[in-house]
Amino acid sequence: MTSDAMRSTVKRSLKHLAIRAGLEMVAASGADRLLTASAGRGVIFTLHHVRPERGFAFEPNGHLSITPEFLDEALLAARDAGLHPVHLEQLPELLGDPAEKRRLFCVTLDDGYRDNERYAAPVFRKHRVPYTIFVTPGFVERTRTVWWETAEALLRAAASFRFDFGKGMETVRSGSSMEKWIAFEKLAAFVEQNSEDDAVTAIERAALDCNVDGRQIVDDEIMTADELRRLSANDDLAALGAHTLTHPNLARVGDTRLRHELQQSAIEVAGYCGRVPKAFAYPYGGRYAVGPREIAAARENGYTVAVTTQPGVLDATLLDAPTALPRVSLNGRYQRKRYVRALVSGLPFKLM
Ligand SMILES: [Zn+2]
Repeated sequence: MTSDAMRSTVKRSLKHLAIRAGLEMVAASGADRLLTASAGRGVIFTLHHVRPERGFAFEPNGHLSITPEFLDEALLAARDAGLHPVHLEQLPELLGDPAEKRRLFCVTLDDGYRDNERYAAPVFRKHRVPYTIFVTPGFVERTRTVWWETAEALLRAAASFRFDFGKGMETVRSGSSMEKWIAFEKLAAFVEQNSEDDAVTAIERAALDCNVDGRQIVDDEIMTADELRRLSANDDLAALGAHTLTHPNLARVGDTRLRHELQQSAIEVAGYCGRVPKAFAYPYGGRYAVGPREIAAARENGYTVAVTTQPGVLDATLLDAPTALPRVSLNGRYQRKRYVRALVSGLPFKLM
């Protein structure tokens, strides 16, 4: 059992090294300074948390967290590269306009973290960059916990915990750093391979047994309906998009649930910002979570633009599938201005 988790932990580390090496190579070559065909029409950035470094030794979600200083540098890098900031909802129309010659960029933030308002909004204001926050009403209403945050907090706090991976209750060791990483991979695999609703509840329960309260974490980390209303009303750069009701892997839910997640989240988000969102982000966003059925469903349920987490820059052919747009992650593990320059050049995606 642990050998599988160990293998994926090692694989993940090797992938980080390879990505870093690729970014360094593009940045060092200077090739990213030449505007090439690979740069396309622009780029959509993905962010999650924006906050100061927390300095934890164990931070399996560290890739989902960048500092306000890096955001500032990244926005400068995008401008330096000649990119012009626009609202995501305007993107399909602008890309389809033959008179629009500028290269464009959009900024998106997934999950609705409170630090977006506190740390990111001032940086967006400074640069006059519009942004879209993708909100999950289950988190906003505190009816759903954020399992990856709960798991991280549990593993940071506990030297062992009790969990049923399907073969009865067992004690999982999580004292050493390696044990924590392996346990995180196992919990993530458990969510991916079982009923996600049940898995989220099981992680919540295991954490509570160790005095780690997943509901409290949501309360601490995610904006409330009132905060979203205030942000929407007071910040003309802020827009809200939908990110489903409960943040499931949509590729693993039935047709009825898929439709409900798409439709009802738009209605709830409209309740926060006063308008029905036309932009949607697929939870997780990888190929394992977004397929032809989900892409068609997003379109059929009223979204004019939807984003994955599959890496890539924008080009005109993407207009054929505006509900399957790639994004470029501003990754907490690669917080260097030269990496952003390399990413917006589009070259790293040609090398993949
Ligand atoms: Zn998300």
